[in-house]
Amino acid sequence: MYTVFGFYLINGLHCLRNIMLLCNMSLLIASLNSGSNGNCYFVGNGNEAVLVDVGISCKEVEKRMLRLGLSLSQVKGIFISHEHSDHIKGVEVLSRKYSIPVYITALTLKNSRLVLSPDLVRGFQSNETVELGGLAVIPFPKLHDASDPYSFVVKGNGVKIGVLTDIGSVCQNVIQHFKQCHAAFLEANYDEILLENGFYPYYLKQRIRGNRGHLSNKQALDLLLCHKPEFMSVLILSHLSKDNNCPILVKELFMQHARHTKVVVASRHQETEVFRIFATPVGEVSKYAKPVIQTSLF
Ligand SMILES: [Zn+2]
Ligand SMILES: [Zn+2]
Repeated sequence: MYTVFGFYLINGLHCLRNIMLLCNMSLLIASLNSGSNGNCYFVGNGNEAVLVDVGISCKEVEKRMLRLGLSLSQVKGIFISHEHSDHIKGVEVLSRKYSIPVYITALTLKNSRLVLSPDLVRGFQSNETVELGGLAVIPFPKLHDASDPYSFVVKGNGVKIGVLTDIGSVCQNVIQHFKQCHAAFLEANYDEILLENGFYPYYLKQRIRGNRGHLSNKQALDLLLCHKPEFMSVLILSHLSKDNNCPILVKELFMQHARHTKVVVASRHQETEVFRIFATPVGEVSKYAKPVIQTSLF
């Protein structure tokens, strides 16, 4: 009896230790919704979390996080990428109800017309890291037709996650950060032919495919082909157009080139599952470990 108990106890402790080790080496990510009807992205380390944009209602955020087993009490900040309504719709209520600080630039706040509790408003500066417990958020400017738009990289436990949506073209900032990401939410907004032949008025087509509009499947794929790092384990294709894209085709297209990177298409209507992203894929340490460099002759 004792032996059996001891065996289970040791195994239990061993498992617990392993689970804690895994948590300390990873970040959790999920899309709560993605598209022109609302965007909200979750990144957390098990203790603290941030949301990038809240473009769906507070109620929907609550429902979806509950279904995923994620806790709003861990959310230490909401980062706002820009003032378009599909990125801010639920911010006021969510921030007020849970007293969550909102990180937003003065220009975006002014143009958003959000009414936020002043004590919950935090600014941020381009390329200046915001530390929230074990997480660090780096905002960097992007090309989009908004007053002061930013993309973000969230770092923690040696893992980097990119949130790269609403970008008209791939600038050096996007390339530099994408190359370092272990996972990314990457915009794949439209198929060029579907947009061209679609029913949108000419001015809107021009706006979407302009330098400060949205990223096409082809632009996103080019980024993947030229700059995806070996260690990127998950790519979540985001902000797909309802009218000018097809989730099945876009997934097939990217999967052909993604090799060992898992390709996920974020839905316009529901949350994705939660993905645990590791600094180095489990079991593949040697493959990704840097070779030992001999620095002197001896
Ligand atoms: Zn958007
Ligand atoms: Zn936008």
